Amino acid sequence: MSALLPLLEARIAAEGPMSVAEYMTWCLLHPQHGYYTTRDPLGAKGDFTTAPEISQMFGELLGLALAQSWVDQGRPKRVILAELGPGRGTLMADALRAMRAVPELIAAAELHLVEASPALRAEQAKRLGGFAPRWHDSLADLPEGPLFLLANEFFDVLPVRQFLRDGEGWRERVVGWHEGQLSFGLTDIAPQAALEHRLADTEQGDMVEICAPAEALVQEVGRRIATHGGAALVIDYGTWGSLGDTLQAVRSHERTAPLDTPGEADLTAHVDFGALAQAAAPAAHAPLTAQGVFLERLGITERARALAARLQGAALESHIAAHRRLTHPGEMGSLFKVLALHAPHSPPPPGLDT
Ligand code: SAH
Repeated sequence: MSALLPLLEARIAAEGPMSVAEYMTWCLLHPQHGYYTTRDPLGAKGDFTTAPEISQMFGELLGLALAQSWVDQGRPKRVILAELGPGRGTLMADALRAMRAVPELIAAAELHLVEASPALRAEQAKRLGGFAPRWHDSLADLPEGPLFLLANEFFDVLPVRQFLRDGEGWRERVVGWHEGQLSFGLTDIAPQAALEHRLADTEQGDMVEICAPAEALVQEVGRRIATHGGAALVIDYGTWGSLGDTLQAVRSHERTAPLDTPGEADLTAHVDFGALAQAAAPAAHAPLTAQGVFLERLGITERARALAARLQGAALESHIAAHRRLTHPGEMGSLFKVLALHAPHSPPPPGLDT
């Protein structure tokens, strides 16, 4: 049985039902029993596989895209190179290897990692130790300076609150305890100042999600980029604007019900890129672009061919499958999208200009 379940039961008994956001935070980051706190969930033997774990090409191309932005912005001498939720550190290791083509950038870069999980910090140290990374609990702790930032499948784990439209007000979806188990419920109708603008584009019974921590974080990223220069590449699944219940749980590469195994499944929600782009102002943003389109524009096919020349047999087959998985619209190519933030008055990172 989930070790978190009796703790959640006690919390709900004491204080009443909790928001979906609070439930996500308990499940993902509880200090003893949280999903990310206690494990490395990535890869074939884990619960899910992310783009950098599928192929080195992903991190290489993202690294080169940031390097081009650095060149476009006049090669600043001191750069904060940062990643949010770096997982095993694979993405940044691949990005840094590709950036060796630009030694001046490697010399200028200080590596900063924002990571909540002790288990994953240890994995990151294995792959990135040579670059003397500094770890932080929060982006706010990073030094000020030109910021070049990566975040892949990070924003989807940040906790969302869910609201159901009812008349001119909203009921919040909450997690309570009913007949010996966790169960979803709804609060009474109340107006929601943060959702006032959604009365125009939703109907009775529609659900919308708000991710306040994501907006606060991107606001800070945007402020730094607008003040000091820099660029950010945010890659995730989601859409422009939020509509519908997108809370999902994944365990052993299978969907499960979000309330079934608290702390033992990854819990995520789709990212509302529109809300992020708005929060990032006065930093500029490029048009939201499908991951497959972005990687093709950056030359993934040429890179795939070059790597293929050294492979054969099963290794070649799996390399070809990885290229397809990252780019094909039926796989990750369309579901995953790239939002780039960049300094006003400088071009967007390559692959994202229209
Ligand atoms: N970017 C990696 C890992 C994605 S999984 C990849 O693409 O493979 C999500 C990552 O975010 C994990 O490293 C997890 O520990 C981290 N994380 C989750 N919630 C966090 C929070 N509130 N603050 C910082 N890191 C967090």
